[in-house]
Amino acid sequence: MKSTAEIRQTFLDFFRGKGHEIVESSSLVPHNDPTLLFTNAGMNQFKDVFLGMDKRTYTRATTAQRCVRAGGKHNDLDNVGYTARHHTFFEMLGNFSFGDYFKRDAIHFAWELLTGQGWYNLPKERLLVTVYETDDEAFDIWANEIGIPKERIVRIGDNKGAPYASDNFWQMGDTGPCGPCSEIFYDHGDHIWGGPPGSPEEDGDRFIEIWNIVFMQFNRLPNGTMEKLPKPSVDTGMGLERISAVLQHVNSNYDIDVFKRLIKDTAQIIGVTDLENKSLRVIADHIRSCAFLIADGVVPSNEGRGYVLRRIIRRAVRHGHMLGAKDIFFYKLVSSLVDVMESAASQLAKSQKLVEETLKLEEEQFLKTLERGLLLLDQELSKVVNNQLPGDVAFKLYDTYGFPLDLTADVCREKNIVVDEVGFNQCMEIQRQRSRESDSFSIDYSSAIKLDGKTEFLGYNTIESSATIV
Ligand code: ATP
Ligand code: MG
Ligand code: MG
Ligand code: MG
Repeated sequence: MKSTAEIRQTFLDFFRGKGHEIVESSSLVPHNDPTLLFTNAGMNQFKDVFLGMDKRTYTRATTAQRCVRAGGKHNDLDNVGYTARHHTFFEMLGNFSFGDYFKRDAIHFAWELLTGQGWYNLPKERLLVTVYETDDEAFDIWANEIGIPKERIVRIGDNKGAPYASDNFWQMGDTGPCGPCSEIFYDHGDHIWGGPPGSPEEDGDRFIEIWNIVFMQFNRLPNGTMEKLPKPSVDTGMGLERISAVLQHVNSNYDIDVFKRLIKDTAQIIGVTDLENKSLRVIADHIRSCAFLIADGVVPSNEGRGYVLRRIIRRAVRHGHMLGAKDIFFYKLVSSLVDVMESAASQLAKSQKLVEETLKLEEEQFLKTLERGLLLLDQELSKVVNNQLPGDVAFKLYDTYGFPLDLTADVCREKNIVVDEVGFNQCMEIQRQRSRESDSFSIDYSSAIKLDGKTEFLGYNTIESSATIV
């Protein structure tokens, strides 16, 4: 059976054979893009090439890009531990055409890699594809050239959610390059619950999206009209862990070699015997995002990117506590991670000591208040009415015990209780007002970063400086 490292290499080798330049993964911190929290797709590092503002020596590229989706537009943090297919950190395998090949080649390449003998060699009858509802061109290529039965080609429109933000129409921003997508799904078998794409049960674990192929063929102008791009491009992304699950004959990403090892080591360090425990999966996921973020220069802090990192670390520490960890444990997983990620960990390996020290310090600090905070939360949870935890309790946990809101929500979710976020935000606003009045000069608006459309101020120390976040 192929290891994840081999599966990654096969992808890159395949596309090198098709004339693509193998390009290194870029950092998780998109230094040149203040609109982006973390690198969340393979195309990020090529954004300017697609926009025609940057030129490379090649017109075809392939990468295994480290990605984090734990905030901003793509946030899978709350999916971890609940779905078989989502991580906060994952690797996205991609092939890119910068005005070179287009739909026909992109589809043929994908099919050859997935089903070709000597490549991934998947059974064709397990694969389904989607196309954008009006994209007859892609439909015809799949149906007539590839030979996929028409009932396994699903047309998906953009009527889900916001206009043009659906699963099958992609755009870089409100204006600029955009176009239809075609996604490839794998059917893990009818013993698993779930329905095909476009059906009400599509979010189950049976039909899993493995590869998204984006055809950039339009340019959206500020007035909303779309003009044809003179040279259309291609951007694709396949989750390495998802294709590994398929090729290693397991349904869940958490059962692939990389995660098996991380889960086993976590269990051993903490002293747990039940390897099916959900908290082990969460910790195995979180060590990857936390370690790689630190290796790429993110420092735990109370704002911006650093706060997202701190939140993930604290969630992991809380899950360790649930498993009965008697001692600090999280940093001990870094060496397993370096080992199991092979070529993808070269950057991490270089800063292993720093990563371990950073994690150790964070965990030590949080452990000072975790237990007391959980005790308070437990008492409050037993008093809850209408399945809602009052906002001021969540705020006290945040302010006094260093519990990020999402951590409190995570604990509550296990008991089917929600947090009154409006109440929490009101308490936060009062706090903010107070610190503004007492210390209005520490606000630095220069380094703004957008999160979910709202603006967070990286240099804004007052939001949490008065909070006892230890
Ligand atoms: P899903 O619908 O399953 O959440 P997506 O449509 O959000 O996936 P894309 O943005 O299309 O994902 O990203 C391209 C590919 O990256 C996906 O087809 C999938 O294989 C992989 N991928 C996306 N998000 C994750 C994640 N959180 N963890 C692991 N792999 C992911
Ligand atoms: Mg998603
Ligand atoms: Mg999707
Ligand atoms: Mg997708």
